[in-house]
Amino acid sequence: MDEKKVALVTGASRGIGRATAVELAKTGYHVIINYNSSEAAAAETLSEVQAAGGTGRITRFDVADTEEVKNALGGIIAEYKKIDVLVNNAGVTADGLFMMMGDDEWRRVIDTTLNGFFNVTKPVLREMVRKKNGSIVSVSSISALAPNRGQSNYAAAKAGLIAATKSLAKEVARFGIRVNAVAPGPIETDMLSSMPMDAGMIKAMIPMARVGKPEEVARVIRFLCSADASFITGEVISINGGMA
Ligand code: NAP
Repeated sequence: MDEKKVALVTGASRGIGRATAVELAKTGYHVIINYNSSEAAAAETLSEVQAAGGTGRITRFDVADTEEVKNALGGIIAEYKKIDVLVNNAGVTADGLFMMMGDDEWRRVIDTTLNGFFNVTKPVLREMVRKKNGSIVSVSSISALAPNRGQSNYAAAKAGLIAATKSLAKEVARFGIRVNAVAPGPIETDMLSSMPMDAGMIKAMIPMARVGKPEEVARVIRFLCSADASFITGEVISINGGMA
C-alpha cells in the first residue's frame, strides 16, 4: 500500500465523483470513496474500482459537518500518513427563486460546497504541506461563471469555490501543491435528472447538442491531478460542450 498514491474523492457514491474514483483507480491511485447517505451506491463505486483493477475503501462523512470530517479524516490520515490527491466533488442543489428561498435551501448549498471545501481541505492540506506534494481539484460549475436564475445559492457557492481555489493556489504553490477547479456544464447524473428542465431545452443550450458524461469530467480531473499538469495551478477548466 505504501507505494501507491492515495486519492480522496468526496461525494463519490454517484455521478461525477464515482466516475472520478474509477478513473483515478485505473491510473494507480488507492481511492478513498466518501459518501454521505448512499451507502449501497458507494459500495457499488468500490466494486467498479476493483473491477477496473484498482483498490480503495469507502468512508462516510457529511462534508458540511466539521466534527464528522475531523473524526473521519483524522483516522484516515493516521492510517495512510498521506493523501496525494483530493477531489472536492460533493455538492447539492436546492434551486428556487431568491425571494422564495428558505434559510435551509440557502445554507445547505453553501454549507456543502464552501464549508465542505474548508472542512475537508484543511486537514488534507496539512499533510500535503508536510510532504511538500499534492494536488487538489474542486468541482465548481458553469453556474459560477454564467449563473442562471433560480440558482443564487448554488452560483454563489460555486463561485466562492473558484475564488477559494485561486487564493489557496497562490498560498501553497511554494510547497509543491497545486490547486485547481473544473467547471462542468450539464452532465448526465442524478443531479441533472432532478432538475425541473426538459432534456430538449438543456440540449438546445449546448453547442455540441448533448449533455456531458461523468467520465468526460473525470478525465479532466485526472489530468489536473497528474504530472502532465505540473505547471497548472489556480486554473479553472470548463467542460461544457461549448456553452461559455
Ligand atoms: P449527484 O449525482 O447528485 O451526486 C452527488 C454526490 O455528492 C453524491 O455522491 C452524494 O453522496 C454527495 N454528497 C452530497 N452532499 C454531500 C455531503 N454533505 N457530504 C458528502 N457527500 C455529499 O451529483 P453530480 O452531478 O455527480 O455532482 C457532483 C459535483 O459536480 C457537484 O459538486 C455538482 O455541484 C457538480 N456539478 C454537476 C453538474 C451536473 O450537471 N451534473 C454540473 C456542474 C457541476 P450521497 O448520495 O452519499 O449523499
